[in-house]
Order: sequence, then C-alpha cells, then structure tokens
Amino acid sequence: MSKKYVGSREWSTLPKIKLEQPIRDIPVIEWDRPNTFLTLGLRNTGKSTLTELLAVHHDKIVDLYGSKDNENLCWCRDSSPIDDILLVHGENTEIDSSWPSIPVNELSLKDIESYEGIVTCNSFFSSDEVKYEACTKILNNLYERFEWKKIIFVAMREAIDILYSRLNRGKGEKDIKIETMTFQRQLRHFGVSFGLDLLKWTGLDKEIRLLADYTIIKKVGWQELPGEIAWIGSYVRPDTFRYLNKNEMILLTSNGAIGYCTSPELKWHKEEGVDLLKELGIQIKHREAPEKSTQQKVGDKEHAEIIKKYDDTQSMLVVSNELSRSLSTISFHVSYHNEQIEELRYCPKCRRAQSVLETTQIHTTDRPISSDD
Ligand SMILES: [Zn+2]
Repeated sequence: MSKKYVGSREWSTLPKIKLEQPIRDIPVIEWDRPNTFLTLGLRNTGKSTLTELLAVHHDKIVDLYGSKDNENLCWCRDSSPIDDILLVHGENTEIDSSWPSIPVNELSLKDIESYEGIVTCNSFFSSDEVKYEACTKILNNLYERFEWKKIIFVAMREAIDILYSRLNRGKGEKDIKIETMTFQRQLRHFGVSFGLDLLKWTGLDKEIRLLADYTIIKKVGWQELPGEIAWIGSYVRPDTFRYLNKNEMILLTSNGAIGYCTSPELKWHKEEGVDLLKELGIQIKHREAPEKSTQQKVGDKEHAEIIKKYDDTQSMLVVSNELSRSLSTISFHVSYHNEQIEELRYCPKCRRAQSVLETTQIHTTDRPISSDD
C-alpha cells in the first residue's frame, strides 16, 4: 500500500489488522476500491471495534446506528483519529453540542462530502421508526454521487435491521432480498464501501452474504459454517470459531485466500458502562412528532400549510383548491388554530409542525363556513 494519507489521517500511524498466519494463499485487503466487509460474531466478540478499525482506513465514514448505548459517538472523542464530524439527528430532535449538527431532512450529499465523519446514534431519534426512516434518507443521498475520488465507508452495525427496514414494508421476502442485493451492488458504483456486522449467518440471505469481498469470522459459538463457505473447514479446524479471543479473527477474501489475523485495541472505542452523551456534553431534546395526514384527517404539517396559505391569500377557496380539501375543512382548521391560541397561547398542531405561526392568530375576512356548505 503506497497510500500516504487517508482522509486527514496519516496511513502509517493507523492501527491495522495484522496477518499473523496465512492459511490458504495470502489474504490482502484492497483498500483503494469500494468493498463489502461482512463480519460475523456473537455479542462481545469485538465486532464493533473491528468495524471502527475498517472505517479508519477509508477517507470518509458514515456511521449509522449501533446499539442503544450510542457507541457511534466514540468518533467525537479526543482520542479518535477523526476531527471533522457532522452529527445527524431526527427532524423533531434538537441537539446541543460542540459539533455541528443537522436534521436528517436537510442533509445533502454536499454535506456528506464536506465532512470526514457523518455520525448518528440511537438517542438522536425519537423512535426506531424515525431512526430507520432517517437511515434511508442518508443512504439515498449517496445515490447522487455520480462523481467520486474518495471512498465513503458506511458502517452498518446491526446490519439486518437497517438493510431490511430501509426497504418498503409490505413487500415479499424475495423482493426485499433482490432489492438489498441491487442496493449493495449499485452503491459500489458511487464509491461506497460497506461494513456490515451480524450475529448469525442466517441474519442475511446467502445471496447477500456471497456479495461480500471480505468475510471476517470472529467467535461464533456453536453456529456451523454456512454451506457456501463450509469448504474452509478443510483449512481451519471448526473448533477454532468457538474459542477465538476478542482480538482474533479468520479473514476470508472473495478469491478464497484465508488468514488468521489479529486487531489492536482502539483507544477511542467506547468502554462498557460509559455514557458518551454525558462524557461529550451532548444535550438532546425530543419534540413531539407531527401527526401525519391521511385522506380523512389533516395532519400537523398540512394544518400548518393551511394556516400559512390562508394567511397569505385570505381566501378559503384558493386554499381549498390548492390542497384538495373541502372548504369546511379549511374553515374548521382556521377557527381551530385561532381558538387554540386564544386558549393556550399557541396552536399545538402548528407547534408540532414547527410553524412560525404557532402563536399568531390569523385574521379572517371570509365568513365562517358551516359543514353543510
Ligand atoms: Zn395552527
């Protein structure tokens, strides 16, 4: 590897995976092209540390969600080799920290390109649903990366949850499998590497596992090797996988080279029982999420839009036509808005939608419309 720098980091100073013993040919990781790394291991077998180690060998890191303990925030520690970090949080969450932060709905590819590390964590989202939606939004940005020189490493700790939840619900298992494979293959063309980690082989379908350029096996307990790589049993004693230490692994490349490797400890990796939010002084406030619109019901954002449009046009007819809601619905929401402010001094619907009009009563020139108009 002739590289001098990766991102702002000096290649020679980075902690590295060490090949202790080649077992079949000599496995070599080609860092200068987009790859998929698949790591398998039980809990507490050093999977997360390894994902972080793979990450620092790439110019850019997008660290999606990990466990509930916000371990992804370790990049913000002084000991981390990444300084230039953007925190991404949910739309209805406010973050107070010394790192720049952005709500996921405002994040663009340009932002991703401008930072070395894009970091999210579990606590930055008000619910799992919001978190998975955000994940999709972040990944979709990468599809616009038609031009690239630097490889982005996307860390997907707990890969299955993220991969499968980014896909539309209501689809059959087969569709999801095909979509996931296409997604993985496509992002490669946009200069994106993946680090996926799994607890069980069966967490991902065989077809998806076969797309891995590097398969890293850590301590897996009693799980048997899956069919497609059962052949490595003739090179590595199957017992080995029951006894590997946290820093040990078997590395398998897509061209069939096998090696026994070790990895160093990372000083920035989160220790057990440490609250990184507290350590880094990051404050989080979740607002109530806006209610969504349905055909029968006007959600909070639509309510705010009705109020704003009516304030601008002073015509219920115009608003009704533009938003395809009945005149009586528009009339109802304008009155509701004004009544709420009269009573509570703010409109809860506008507040949840973060409208600037949340405390402003709207002057009405239309005569009120009753529901039988
Ligand atoms: Zn309102």
